[in-house]
Amino acid sequence: MHWKLKKLSHLYGLHLSRVLNRPLVKPSTITITLTSRCNLRCIMCDHWKSKNKDELSLEEIKNIIDQISDWGIKGIDLSGGEPFMRKDIFDIIQYATSKKIAMNITTNATLLNKKEIEKIINSSVRRIQISLDGTKAETHDLIRGVEGTFNKVIKTIDYFDELKNKKDIKLNITTVIMKQNLTELLEIIELAKKLNLNSITFQPVVDDNLDIRRRNALNPLRIPDSKSGLMDKVINDIIKIRKRDPFVGNSIQHLESMKRYFRNKPLKEVKCYAGFIFGIVAPNGRLWSCMGDFGNLYKETIKEAWFSKEAGEKRKMIKKCKTPCLYPCYLNPDEGSIIKATINNLK
Ligand code: SF4
Ligand code: SF4
Repeated sequence: MHWKLKKLSHLYGLHLSRVLNRPLVKPSTITITLTSRCNLRCIMCDHWKSKNKDELSLEEIKNIIDQISDWGIKGIDLSGGEPFMRKDIFDIIQYATSKKIAMNITTNATLLNKKEIEKIINSSVRRIQISLDGTKAETHDLIRGVEGTFNKVIKTIDYFDELKNKKDIKLNITTVIMKQNLTELLEIIELAKKLNLNSITFQPVVDDNLDIRRRNALNPLRIPDSKSGLMDKVINDIIKIRKRDPFVGNSIQHLESMKRYFRNKPLKEVKCYAGFIFGIVAPNGRLWSCMGDFGNLYKETIKEAWFSKEAGEKRKMIKKCKTPCLYPCYLNPDEGSIIKATINNLK
């Protein structure tokens, strides 16, 4: 089937799944949260404060990868905490590579040496998601809570650029928008281009990243009302860039929604597809979403958990979410309406 038709049929499948509250298409990816541990101390993150020491063993992760492969799911996201805190991370990468599964890794890019980067480039990792929150060491290090982080990230990106040659691996920057970096957002786009990266995605800061449904209007990282005018201007400038350049990975609808999000206004237009697009495996072996567990992978398979009664109940709650987190990965994949998506995809 032509790839455009394939993409459209997937979009229709997702759309209908959400309407019927029953998954009609399999998840595009499964995220495996490898650990809650991290070497950084980011000011917007609660992972490193967590006392939770749960981690799946290498054998358990291999078993999950086998299930993903047998189900015919094409991609895995490896995330954390910081995935490279695990000593067996390269065994995991190598195992998924042997199963020909494409991987995306989300990392703070501070723990990799040249040799390890070479290993990644020669594996089936297709995308690296790197956190970069400022154009200056001062800003990025303040946000990431550890001095020297900015220089390490830039060095890692340079190594990737030097070694990747013609290999099919994409490097994407993720930038968390908050009060502390509002005036640098446009410059981060320029920096990302200068560093020869493939794209940038913006994410507004969440008030609690262990419970992304929680809202705290008093969160000191939020953009305050006194800076709303500046925020509108910056976001409008990003939208202008987005309109002419897909280097910015957010949809225009998503960027527009951020203005209301930071003003604590309801976001009726946001359609969340969490629990339909992909599944998340937690370090304690649960398949879960922000609304709770779908199932326990120590007792059932991923497929059983995905189609479980509990998953159906959580999906109903997801559809009624009144406090959208605006994580870009959960948002409407058809930019507002299925009709618009059809037109866009047939262009
Ligand atoms: S790098 Fe990621 S996991 Fe680590 S503290 Fe920062 S946000 Fe949290
Ligand atoms: S928008 Fe989706 S992922 Fe975010 S809190 Fe609401 S239901 Fe959860």
